[in-house]
Amino acid sequence: MLIEKEITAQIVARQRRFFQTGKTKDIGFRVEQLKQLKQVIIDNQTEIAQAVQADLRKPKFETVAAEILLCIEEINYALKKLKSWTKPKKVATPLNLFPASAQIVSEPLGVVLIIGAWNYPFQLVIAPLIGAIAAGNCAILKPSEIAAHTSEVVAKLVGKYFESDFLAVVEGGKEVTQELLAEKFDHIFFTGGTEIGRIIMQAAAKNLTPVTLELGGKSPCIIEPDVDLELTARRITWGKFINAGQTCIAPDYLLVHRSIKEPLLAGIKQCIQEFYTDNPATSQDYARIISDRHFARLQKLLHSGGKVVVGGEINPSDRYIAPTVIDGVNWDDEIMQSEIFGPLLPVLDYDDLGDAIAQVNSRPKPLALYFFSKNKHNQQRILQETSSGGVCINETISHIIPPELPFGGVGDSGMGNYHGKATFDTFSHPKSIVKKPFWLDIKLRYPPYEGKLKFIDWLFK
Ligand code: NAD
Repeated sequence: MLIEKEITAQIVARQRRFFQTGKTKDIGFRVEQLKQLKQVIIDNQTEIAQAVQADLRKPKFETVAAEILLCIEEINYALKKLKSWTKPKKVATPLNLFPASAQIVSEPLGVVLIIGAWNYPFQLVIAPLIGAIAAGNCAILKPSEIAAHTSEVVAKLVGKYFESDFLAVVEGGKEVTQELLAEKFDHIFFTGGTEIGRIIMQAAAKNLTPVTLELGGKSPCIIEPDVDLELTARRITWGKFINAGQTCIAPDYLLVHRSIKEPLLAGIKQCIQEFYTDNPATSQDYARIISDRHFARLQKLLHSGGKVVVGGEINPSDRYIAPTVIDGVNWDDEIMQSEIFGPLLPVLDYDDLGDAIAQVNSRPKPLALYFFSKNKHNQQRILQETSSGGVCINETISHIIPPELPFGGVGDSGMGNYHGKATFDTFSHPKSIVKKPFWLDIKLRYPPYEGKLKFIDWLFK
């Protein structure tokens, strides 16, 4: 549905008026809305899963785990912690302010815009929304138009169970998003590609609106020789091919020590068979590519360099691409020029860990970095010598799970973060407050200053 500019402007104006009533600042109201959201998700989980299935043929297990449960857990966590997050935090005051007290109060920002991507189409708008509500804001959601079924369900459920003065969904693509971006928001939370992230930031700059950019990138997976090969293969296969590789933190490529490349690739091949059978096209547990455009993009990458050693089969009518491993790739190949975002796993090798680190560091900072090794010294080396949004040691993807861990990118992979308290903080302003009583007023700071500098010198030494 294409929302007319006037209508977009009206929704924003109505939300702004609602925010100014102060209703969303009430903690009871926030708790009520979070509980309502939880109930709506629980009651409609079948419809949500069906919509995600229609968009991506995502297995129900993956939808329940990565879209529905993740949101429920975020709500439970916010409900449990809201009282402590919203409590003013007293801080110490320096002697030269005596007598005074100081505190930090988390203040809601106002009306916020949340723009989602299509790969986890429900979670990517609802998880930020949870923090926006917890922090006391009004919000407009713009789910991805590419996951059209999920966008429709989100719009239907939010429209049915929430006042649009408080929460509203605007559906549509680029044009609609650009109309929204012309409005003044108090924060824009964007999930999507790095190039569109630049457009969002430019639009936000016109209104001096702060942004959170949850972007993508090429997340490396480095494997040393001293690993448990079977487990390493299993964890990589899971992280790469879940949602058919359409995961922002999927391992984009392998950088594997030359001495174990052959057995590791054999292990990955075996895991693909175990997970998805000899013919993954028939597996209920393997998703499809979201659109013809992305299918064509991935098809072009498939034979753009290196040699397919596992998979490679495609079926355009079903938008099916088999879990595929491509060996003998080098950095000049097209597949290494941008984020793959699909079930193609290129493999590069190295002889020396320092060289692997240098290769990663010569490229934009990735959203995630995966390192497999039992060696604690080398684990520490990776943590100290590389920069990425997040890291898993001997694991993939899972740093997204603990609500205590802020999730976000760095450099080209994004700015700002969310999940748990980080989402609440993203949609709050930490207001600094100093209170002074009237019973004492030390005159040292007031002019005339003559003779006072010596005392200040003494005070600060
Ligand atoms: P995208 O950038 O194409 O689209 C994201 C959103 O931006 C959509 O809602 C879309 O309607 C809107 N949009 C697209 N073009 C626009 C334009 N010119 N002006 C204004 N708005 C526009 O991203 P996508 O294809 O939906 O998702 C894939 C990307 O998202 C990948 O790079 C992936 O890594 C990234 N991603 C990141 C995270 C994260 O948490 N960091 C999570 C999921 C996906």
